[in-house]
Amino acid sequence: MNLIDVNEKFKTEESCWNYLEQMRWPDGIRCGTCGNAEVSTINRKVSKETDNKRGKLYQCLEDSCQQQFSATSGTIFHDSHLPLTKWFMAVALIADAKKGISAKQLQRHLGIGSYKTAWYLAHRIRKSMEETEGSLFTGTVEVDETYIGGKFDKRRKRARYEKPAVVGLIERGDSGRVRTMRLNTVSKATLVGTILKHTDEIAHIMTDEHAGYKSVGKVRKHDSVNHIKEEWVRGNVHTNSIENYWSLFKRGLIGSFHQVSVKHLERYMAEFDYRFNNRKDVDIFIKTIARMCNVTPMQYSQLTADRDPAL
Ligand SMILES: [Zn+2]
Repeated sequence: MNLIDVNEKFKTEESCWNYLEQMRWPDGIRCGTCGNAEVSTINRKVSKETDNKRGKLYQCLEDSCQQQFSATSGTIFHDSHLPLTKWFMAVALIADAKKGISAKQLQRHLGIGSYKTAWYLAHRIRKSMEETEGSLFTGTVEVDETYIGGKFDKRRKRARYEKPAVVGLIERGDSGRVRTMRLNTVSKATLVGTILKHTDEIAHIMTDEHAGYKSVGKVRKHDSVNHIKEEWVRGNVHTNSIENYWSLFKRGLIGSFHQVSVKHLERYMAEFDYRFNNRKDVDIFIKTIARMCNVTPMQYSQLTADRDPAL
């Protein structure tokens, strides 16, 4: 579904609510608290853009429960004042933006009142893109570590949290996947540990000459290129795919998001990984909406709880 399809199919609040209800309750409406199927509809005036918090509200008729709920209860959409049409368009825009899209752009495209609202919206969508499980990587797998943000300056002895280290694995090939994560320290233990944890026994690992990868050969088939000696490619031994991926991610961060704070970094990484891993899926929009129904609410205060420096 491209942007035009989404715009066409989800033009009205009602179309969005119907879609979410279908997705959440394919076999009929059920109370999310007790599972009871006997519910009554609470009539409320819907569709006023500013007050559509609970487009379609239901009440559980089980005496001991009597919970009021809607299709968005307990999901990432929970308690949002934004019209669902804007949520849906935001998903389509983020899913489509190869280098990411800033909250400022979202705000403008969707006609959202405040920057804060657009920013919060984007982080909740990102949250639903986090990978919760995934099979082991196999085949030829490139692994590379890097630092995110600014130029590394040893003399300034920047604290580690100012300059987060990340590691990424990428499976080569058309349908190859990527998986990136933060590292507390870049060491032999963390790098080899990551490879052991995320690749299967027959994976062939490609890295650069970093000392942390020296012992990979003991646990996996391993080849490396020596960038220091200006060796970038030796036959099929190279780390170009993961390096290209980092460069896309870094350009995206610089170009689309200013003031990314360290504590939100992993959510941006999840967004980029998700988009890359679903690059061939024409139903990425639908898949994302489905995930959003399965992600529990995230409060604004959770996102802004403690201050930490920007990258
Ligand atoms: Zn109930």
